[in-house]
Amino acid sequence: MTETINIDVHPIEQSRIDSIDFDNLVFGRSFADHMLVIDYENGAWQTPQIVPYGPISFGPAMMSLHYGQAIFEGMKAYRSVDGDITVFRPSENLKRLNKSAVRMCMPEIPEDTFLEGLSELLRIDSAWIPDKPGCSLYIRPFMFSTDEYVGVSPSKTYKFIIFNCPVGAYYTKPLRVRVETTYIRSAHGGVGFSKNAGNYGGSLYPTKLANDAGYDQIIWTDASEHRYVEEAGTMNLMFIINGALVTAPTGDTILDGVTRKSVIQIAKDMGVKVEERPLSVTELIEGIKDGSVQEAFGAGTAAVIAPIATIASEGIDYDLPERPADAFSRKVYEEINGIRLGKIEDTRDWVYRIKE
Ligand SMILES: *Cc1c(COP(=O)(O)O)cnc(C)c1O
Repeated sequence: MTETINIDVHPIEQSRIDSIDFDNLVFGRSFADHMLVIDYENGAWQTPQIVPYGPISFGPAMMSLHYGQAIFEGMKAYRSVDGDITVFRPSENLKRLNKSAVRMCMPEIPEDTFLEGLSELLRIDSAWIPDKPGCSLYIRPFMFSTDEYVGVSPSKTYKFIIFNCPVGAYYTKPLRVRVETTYIRSAHGGVGFSKNAGNYGGSLYPTKLANDAGYDQIIWTDASEHRYVEEAGTMNLMFIINGALVTAPTGDTILDGVTRKSVIQIAKDMGVKVEERPLSVTELIEGIKDGSVQEAFGAGTAAVIAPIATIASEGIDYDLPERPADAFSRKVYEEINGIRLGKIEDTRDWVYRIKE
């Protein structure tokens, strides 16, 4: 690929890769050697820098710490069977980052800057892409405001950074989740559709209560009535009900997941009926009881497909059936994983390939 943007590269003197135990990767705890840093000043993005991963300094009045202009994304890089580095639909993540940016009064990132900066960073740290099954290099792009100023208003300066983490599985066993009917994640007119840091800060306390009660995650319900299923943690929720794929429609309260939209497309291509419609908690629980709910799973970049074993509602645990060998959630995982690794032909043009 020909580079059309300038990137200043300051390589690390001594790689840290030998200190990483690639056989026992804990999600999000190890960081690859370099990061991409782009500053926004005087109304423009400055020259991207690739520098060693490490601390950055800031003043205590840095606005993002006080007023929450902070947004992020999550993607994964794989080593394909033909040797290329592959990233799954990164332009979709950029579109969403820019949607989040607009909602939070932050500057948008041009696509060529994003893709070329990412490509160069991945080339430099390509040795960090794990090649074990189920492992990948998790990519964390994020942006935050950097003005030092006390006053609630949009900052004039920002930092955009991408760093990478070699990771293993996000969840190691099927999930126990609890329907949340006290706390809310997002409301109409709010910021639920954006991946902004505050959404996750607000989720910690209700999630902790659920964790303390023995559940891995909560199922968020709509803010006005707590009647309809929305999503869970950092995953969209999907169900197989009477053979159809059922998932909540994305609006302004639900994050428009790249995994979600990919699963929907694969289902359609497989001839599975797709219903994007509100699903009430009552319908879900009745359906588990009468056997019409055959599968429940979360869909998101970090976990990819996370099967759900148990759903709790109003103090009662309802168990989903064991997943058969030909379960939809297994087939769709195999398809997504196969496309990323280059083992299944990428007929939908989803894979972004980076040559070294
Ligand atoms: C990131 C995220 C998702 C999943 O989105 P993907 O693009 O599939 O990774 C779903 N819900 C929430 C709240 C998220 O933050």
